[in-house]
Amino acid sequence: MAGGIIIFVLALIAAGMFYRYNQKQKKLVADYKLPANAESLLQEYVPFYKELDEANRKVFLTRIHDFLATTVINPVGDTVVEDMDRVFIAAGAIIPIFAFPDWKYNNIDEVLLYKTSFSDKYKTIGEGRNILGMVGDGALNRTMLLSQQAVRQGFMQPDDGRNTVIHEFTHLLDKADGSVDGVPEYLLSKQYIIPWVKEMHKEIKYMRDWGNDINPYGATNEAEFFAVVSEYFFERPHQLAEHHPELYALLQEMFTRHLKPQETA
Ligand SMILES: [Zn+2]
Repeated sequence: MAGGIIIFVLALIAAGMFYRYNQKQKKLVADYKLPANAESLLQEYVPFYKELDEANRKVFLTRIHDFLATTVINPVGDTVVEDMDRVFIAAGAIIPIFAFPDWKYNNIDEVLLYKTSFSDKYKTIGEGRNILGMVGDGALNRTMLLSQQAVRQGFMQPDDGRNTVIHEFTHLLDKADGSVDGVPEYLLSKQYIIPWVKEMHKEIKYMRDWGNDINPYGATNEAEFFAVVSEYFFERPHQLAEHHPELYALLQEMFTRHLKPQETA
């Protein structure tokens, strides 16, 4: 009996906390104003946005607005966070989940923006400063670390197949099911999981044995493979479809299947 009461009280507290969290998020969204140049920045640097129709552009703008309202972007050291950085980070966050109208990242509150690359000890001077972006864990859980230089390069060179922001947010998507393992279970219907794992292992083996046009960093492990080929998918879809049709079809299934009804409407 006492146990039942305790469970009931705990459930009430949890419900209260969830309600307060939701109210706080709603207020943040209501109060936030997108940078005035957001639309022109998207027009100039984000082909994904440019290719959307009018109605979907509005949706995209709302979604980057809501993302920025609920995710703080803080500078590290003497980095100056500019509108361009805010818009690029939000665009890179929304592009991989744009086909999922109800999806929000529930696993991030803050982005730490470093001026350039940093080390795995989060240092910007000294040895081993080769990290462009990272999804934090431990004390940095719910935090993403990004290099400002890499953020800008990713969008200013939109078709080189590399985009650090998209890379890191696909890791967050992968993490949403509890493990960063290259299998984003929320994106894949059950029947595609085995084909995806097979394709991933086949490609990684080929990359390790022979190398191909996929960034070799993708052969590090399954998680990096998923993030690297996602960058490729969003930046050079036609080339990916031509060179890796099976891989392309599976990524298309993950990232765009929910858009199909809209496309034919
Ligand atoms: Zn990575």
